Amino acid sequence: MSNFRIRALQEFSTHRAERFFEENRPVSEYFGQNVFTLEKMRKYLSPDAYAQVVSSIREGVSIDRRFADQIAAGMKTWAVEMGATHYTHWFHPMTDSTAEKHEAFVDRDAEGHIFENFKGSTLVQQESDGSSFPNGGLRNTFEARGYTAWDPSSPAFILDNTLCIPTVFVAYTGESLDMKLPLLKSLRALDRAAVDVVRLFDRNVRKVEVMLGPEQEYFLVDDAFYRARPDLQICNRTLIGHTAAKDQQLEDHYFGTIPSRTMAFMKDFETNAYKLGILLKTRHNEVAPNQFECAPLYCEANLAIDHNLILMLLMRKVAKKHHFKVLFHEKPFDGVNGSGKHCNWSLVTDTGVNLLSPGRTPRTNLQFLSIFVSVIRAVYEHNYLLMSSVASLSNSYRLGGHEAPPAVMSVFVGTTLDKVLRSIEDMSDYGEGDTERERLSVVSEIPEILPDNTDRNRTSPFAFTGNRFEFRAVGSSVNVSAPMYVLNAAVAQQLRRFKGLVDEKMAAGEKHDDAIFQVIRQFVLESKAIRFEGNGYGKEWKEESARRGLKPLDSVPEANKALISPETVKLFAEDSILSDRELYARYEVQQETYTKKLQIEARVLGDLIVNHIVPTAIKFQNTLIDNCRGLRDLFGQEKMEQMCSSQLKMIEKISRYVDSLRRDVHDMIEERKKANQLQDVTDRATAYCECVLPYMGRIREVSDKLEMLVDDELWPLPKYREMLLSR
Ligand code: ADP
Ligand code: MG
Repeated sequence: MSNFRIRALQEFSTHRAERFFEENRPVSEYFGQNVFTLEKMRKYLSPDAYAQVVSSIREGVSIDRRFADQIAAGMKTWAVEMGATHYTHWFHPMTDSTAEKHEAFVDRDAEGHIFENFKGSTLVQQESDGSSFPNGGLRNTFEARGYTAWDPSSPAFILDNTLCIPTVFVAYTGESLDMKLPLLKSLRALDRAAVDVVRLFDRNVRKVEVMLGPEQEYFLVDDAFYRARPDLQICNRTLIGHTAAKDQQLEDHYFGTIPSRTMAFMKDFETNAYKLGILLKTRHNEVAPNQFECAPLYCEANLAIDHNLILMLLMRKVAKKHHFKVLFHEKPFDGVNGSGKHCNWSLVTDTGVNLLSPGRTPRTNLQFLSIFVSVIRAVYEHNYLLMSSVASLSNSYRLGGHEAPPAVMSVFVGTTLDKVLRSIEDMSDYGEGDTERERLSVVSEIPEILPDNTDRNRTSPFAFTGNRFEFRAVGSSVNVSAPMYVLNAAVAQQLRRFKGLVDEKMAAGEKHDDAIFQVIRQFVLESKAIRFEGNGYGKEWKEESARRGLKPLDSVPEANKALISPETVKLFAEDSILSDRELYARYEVQQETYTKKLQIEARVLGDLIVNHIVPTAIKFQNTLIDNCRGLRDLFGQEKMEQMCSSQLKMIEKISRYVDSLRRDVHDMIEERKKANQLQDVTDRATAYCECVLPYMGRIREVSDKLEMLVDDELWPLPKYREMLLSR
């Protein structure tokens, strides 16, 4: 009875908590040791070169070529001292992962001397071929060149003896081929727009930064099980598998004691993360069995995203050593919670004020409200685009499902602020009588709310949590740049509008605070439909949100279209974040990615059914048939039929299931063939979604029924209870 599963179970039983290099120094002593921080730059660079980098980081000034060589030399000296032998431009193509191409420092000069070489020009820019990155037609084959260019605002770091230099990735036309460039542009746009609004209150503010704290959820599965499951191996999720009798219904995993094998893994990757300057703060068990979460202390968004991507790399790497596979997929297991990457988002001034923190005085509260309602207004304006920015094949299995944010956008603000916004709404058009006093009382009613767990709505995709918004619909596997640049751009647009309206009113003679208050009220009224304090999981909300005209995310190919709608094109053009050509390219990449991933899943499912499940079912059916035959030989036909009535039914049932599986797999393949013929990316993705996807659920259902019928010893794939409950 040797099969994959038995071998996996045997191998699993040998896995213990792994030993690893455990630092006994306090973290503060080695934190950031593998990062070329400002502190190290001061040591390794000339004062002029150092000043260049600092102004480039702080003000976005581009680095003077004259200093590039000096900076490169300093960086190289440090890296080589740290044991680095190679360097790479590290960038984020449109794939959710990162890309690197290592070059050795070692070089030979004209006299044949061997030395470590790293030129300024190589630091600043590199030509990267690889027209094989997704580009949505932005790179014609006759001009396939792309460039990576240094992003000094995110420090270089050493991973695997390689100096990694964060870069943006652009086509020879300057059009962006990555996730980072539009992100950086959106951060700049939001900075400009927010500064203009904040300066209505405080003339000292010169810069506003986006702060981001992404909470990373993930599953761990033993690598012996992982290797025995082609679906996990290829698709990062189980395509079939009956739920375990017990999974999360007793709610005994969330915040439970972390199993020792997992703990060793966590400590190991955390230590490595600290060395890379990633300030991990939180770790805990999540709701589903073998699901966990870690969260860093928030920091500037561009850096936070780089950190998250490095963290995912690290976790994958370290997991190997501990015989785990880490699954970042949004829904690796049916029937239990999926994983998200909640994006905690706020705005902070260079004077150190969190603009989403309600203040102590009516005046600071007026500032808070201006920003707060602009964010809500932005989410309202682009609610479908924002939702679609988190749409992907893998997240579509999670959203709207079991304990996951619903697939329609809404904003939750909490009881206190809901009351405040309502009273602002209810105020009669003011300008007469007592209203100035009323206004002041409303504004001063806002207490300095501390982040408070009691006033949390876990069913909202976009929730205010005391001093920040939390975008909870974002998927666990993604580079969060896309949802972040959509959010940043949308908020920048409304802040600009806010400032414009206030200016107009003041020009028309309104007093400063009155003008501001009127625009706040206008924004509150305009965005009323997006605010929802109730249960987002409920059926009522589905109906209510439809009444309010909020469009749910029904299908990914449909959602992708939001990226090229006239409103989106206008939004991204306003700040030159992405041109219509760049948006269209992204659109094409997303549709293609959807199609390809679904195609792969459908192929794997077909293989599993035809080559693993059906043969197993038939093998088991034959043992039943043999048994009946034997009984017939002993007792005769009539007696056997009496004795085996349920067994005979089971034999029939298995035939029915096998037949239905074979038919569905065949038909699914036919649908795929038809879809593959379609030339247009949208048509193809839509056909996959509408004609191929439905088979996957049907096939799974029957296969899972067979799993419950077939002798456990024969079942070829590790079962849910083994993968989820084995520690
Ligand atoms: P939760 O209770 O929501 O699971 P966690 O502690 O897991 O909270 O994660 C919260 C995340 O929000 C952390 O990354 C934290 O640093 C981040 N965060 C806290 N305050 C802010 C803020 N003002 N702006 C952005 N992120 C923040
Ligand atoms: Mg958390």
